[in-house]
Amino acid sequence: MELETHLKKYFGFPSFKTGQKEVITSILAGQHTLAMLPTGTGKSLCYQLPTYLLQGQTLIISPLLSLMQDQVEQMKRLGEKRVIALNSFLSVSERNDVLRHINDYKFIFISPEMLWVPFIIKVLQQLTISLFVVDEAHCISQWGYDFRPDYSKLGEIRKKLNSPLTLALTATATKKVREDIVHSLGIDANEITKIESTIDRPNIAFHIERLNAYHEKQHRTIELVSALQKPGIIYFSSKKAADQMAALLMEKGICKAMAYHGSLEPTTRVLIQQQFIHNQLDVVCATSAFGMGINKENIRFIIHFHLPMQVESYLQEIGRAGRDGLPSVAILLYAPGDEHLPLQLAEAELPSEQQIDWLFNKLTEQSKQVDVRVELNQELSKQGGFSEIQWRIIKEFIKNPDNEMSNLELIQTSIQKFVRERLQVKIGNIFQMRRFVHADTCRREFIFDYFEEEFVHNKIPSCCDICGVNLSAYQATSHTLLRETTEENWKDYLAKILINSELSK
Ligand code: ADP
Ligand code: MG
Repeated sequence: MELETHLKKYFGFPSFKTGQKEVITSILAGQHTLAMLPTGTGKSLCYQLPTYLLQGQTLIISPLLSLMQDQVEQMKRLGEKRVIALNSFLSVSERNDVLRHINDYKFIFISPEMLWVPFIIKVLQQLTISLFVVDEAHCISQWGYDFRPDYSKLGEIRKKLNSPLTLALTATATKKVREDIVHSLGIDANEITKIESTIDRPNIAFHIERLNAYHEKQHRTIELVSALQKPGIIYFSSKKAADQMAALLMEKGICKAMAYHGSLEPTTRVLIQQQFIHNQLDVVCATSAFGMGINKENIRFIIHFHLPMQVESYLQEIGRAGRDGLPSVAILLYAPGDEHLPLQLAEAELPSEQQIDWLFNKLTEQSKQVDVRVELNQELSKQGGFSEIQWRIIKEFIKNPDNEMSNLELIQTSIQKFVRERLQVKIGNIFQMRRFVHADTCRREFIFDYFEEEFVHNKIPSCCDICGVNLSAYQATSHTLLRETTEENWKDYLAKILINSELSK
């Protein structure tokens, strides 16, 4: 049977999106595969379809709990019952129950930390794993922008599971990171098929503006948002700045805007996402927390108010614009000294030397007392002033069974080494972003170079500010302004547009 027939049968889609068929064909031919496809191209389907066509079970390792839950919910909604997520959301008894019936599941999602529980590995070793999937595979590489120490040991786990057929998925990874993924998984470079789509999005124009000061950036943002065709997203690195801008845009009556960041209640976050998707909001002033899993086709602009931490996340964020293929613009505003905030954030993501010393003194004290089990509890995290991210790093090291609790000194040294190296990588990444802003060569060419993709100057009419881009081409015309908010008004509005476009034919 043709693959398209299976696609139709299992998912109801008439055709594959770019790259999907190649990846699926490769997997079905028994080839280990690394697929780099942009966000929103349907990478999940690349393992879901083969799973239906293969005998055994598929194990999907996913780094983010929320993404994993989303995937599982989505599959269940589509009628797939044989799907389960093994993660810390399950109570011990629920987990044991799942493990007892593990053979009933076709899709087993698992978080990396669960893979360190010895009896879970034992259970998984009993299965026939037909496909081993690593989602967001760039997290494996220490050169990746979102490196997870507990992801880097996946090669070992894979070996323990008898080296099953493997699919690594990522949206953005440099060549170095892609090589590192393959190496870390314990796969020979010539034993893996790489399917890499271009990182280029020709319908998105790059525009960088250098201003003199923070308040000029604020002023300019308001000016841009007033003029540009909406909807759009403005990315900030600070929650406060996002809140302020959303309030300003509303106060001035420029558009319907809301701030979105990690400090909001989960229900508020969902609400804002939904309103934006359904065109009830024109602009979201967001931190990087916003965007994953947002499938909205008609985003016309992305503004970066702050300097992003690395080219990879910048590209992911601007890639949310213009999914419908229509002209869209990515604007980055820069003022001197803008490097400081990302540098501060990079440092803050890692535990400091003092925090590490303090913690290990405490743990050493504990270990000297008789009858006291050395333990990393939440109390220590609080006392030591560790943020969630910092504490996760500490836990990833100490939970690692390779690092015997008895050898505290060794663990301390390896955390310190890790922190130093990560900071260097992060500083290097920020430096690349800075180069991007200050370069006087084509922006698109810079991005191609960064990802070591061959650049062919194919005369994109609206390429970037260096090649020449006319911002007024992205301005709103009166009938494209979204003013209405209610469902009913929205329908009227759509009807009006349709009439307008009929008239203009
Ligand atoms: P990614 O992981 O690459 O960001 P997802 O796997 O989350 O993307 O898929 C994004 C969306 O695309 C989902 O809503 C999915 O149902 C849809 N999709 C996947 N494949 C197809 C297809 N062949 N045709 C139409 N829609 C598809
Ligand atoms: Mg995905």
